[in-house]
Amino acid sequence: MRKQERRAWICLLLVVALLSGIGLFTYRFIKSGGEWATFYGNSQIYTDGVINRGTITDRYGEELLQCTPDGFNYSSDYETRVATVHAVGDPYGNVSDGAISSFKSQLIGYDILNGTYDTTANGKKIALTIDANANRTAYEALAGRTGAVGVYNWKTGEIVCMVSTPTFDPAYDPEASADGDSSYFFNNFIDGLLTPGSTFKLVTSAAVIDNMDDREAFRFECDGTNQVNEREDSSLSDVIVHGEVNFREALAKSCNGAFGALTREVGAKTMAKYAEKAGLTEPVEIDGIKTAAGSFDFPDDNEVKLSWAGIGQADDLVNPCAMMVYMGAIANGGEPVQPTLIRSATFLKELTGGKSLGRYLDSDTAAELKDMMKYNVTENYGEWNFEGMDMYAKSGTAEAGSDSPDAWFVGFTDDADAPYAFVVWVKGGGFGSEVAAPIAARVIRSLGTAEE
Ligand SMILES: [Zn+2]
Repeated sequence: MRKQERRAWICLLLVVALLSGIGLFTYRFIKSGGEWATFYGNSQIYTDGVINRGTITDRYGEELLQCTPDGFNYSSDYETRVATVHAVGDPYGNVSDGAISSFKSQLIGYDILNGTYDTTANGKKIALTIDANANRTAYEALAGRTGAVGVYNWKTGEIVCMVSTPTFDPAYDPEASADGDSSYFFNNFIDGLLTPGSTFKLVTSAAVIDNMDDREAFRFECDGTNQVNEREDSSLSDVIVHGEVNFREALAKSCNGAFGALTREVGAKTMAKYAEKAGLTEPVEIDGIKTAAGSFDFPDDNEVKLSWAGIGQADDLVNPCAMMVYMGAIANGGEPVQPTLIRSATFLKELTGGKSLGRYLDSDTAAELKDMMKYNVTENYGEWNFEGMDMYAKSGTAEAGSDSPDAWFVGFTDDADAPYAFVVWVKGGGFGSEVAAPIAARVIRSLGTAEE
């Protein structure tokens, strides 16, 4: 009897071990099956280590790349190739976040029930969210300068334009052999960490709105030099003398002296909290692709450096995609939508919107910022530059060490059929409102002009 009882226990233990083994396998299969199937040793789906099936198109079905056993067939149009290569990828995998590598399992047509089984061996067609025509427009508008243009629909999360320059031709010069410079492969929009300049005043403004109840009474007398203390090297100089400005005018005129004063009033701790709240210190996730994470230093024992950090200089570094998402947060009542690069379930997505990234700002704070960004446009940038668009924006002219400052323009449009948040950065471009703003206007105007 005792012996039988022991055997029963042993059997039970074996059953438990077997079941937990199956459980573990199933879990790992679901979690990593795609990786196992797309493993480079799987000769069926690779020719000479390069994926040999699958087609990548833009959002309207324009073919950007066909992967075949004979190699990659890119678009026959040069401009399309160079303007979309950072989104699509290249044969050697030099572009680290291209669709070829990031969406490999979708391209092969892997699914959990059938594995990589595919009767045609052609793989799947995946449509990216980008509009190839808008990418070409952005590439043309950057006109040979180093830069980045990113635009996304702040309701659905779809990235409709993503261009980074310098760029290269993946079909005829995949190794960008001209001078062996790796910057050709770098996607400034996803991997860039840049000095934000005055675009960061939109973060400082959020801190002011939430923490200064008396902000309506704020006045600053800008003398153009704006010395913080007695020391001569403590000036927050402006290109022009702004005279007396209130909070709203300080943003529209982008007065460094006033924003330095506002930053000191808000304090180091609160500034650090708001850079974090704006999502600028964490990577943004785009269908598994992670952007670079920005960083800041707001010292509480150095009021000059703190002031500079509050106007987007000092050690401030932002990622352009994260900045675009922050614009999406202001546009969407404080709650941004997660960006995506794969177009799918479009009808439902358009009805319900994209996935929320949580609350970045109170809705009242977002509304006040939105109102101030409209004032920037009417008072400073000129509505006539954005004819036919309901534009909200902030320019930036960032000193980033080179001879000429970097030009920025960030913001969003709030038209029913064009809810776009955007970021434009031009290295060494000069003044943001003169250089980067027209690029934003041109790209947004080009969106959706291709046939659906
Ligand atoms: Zn000023």
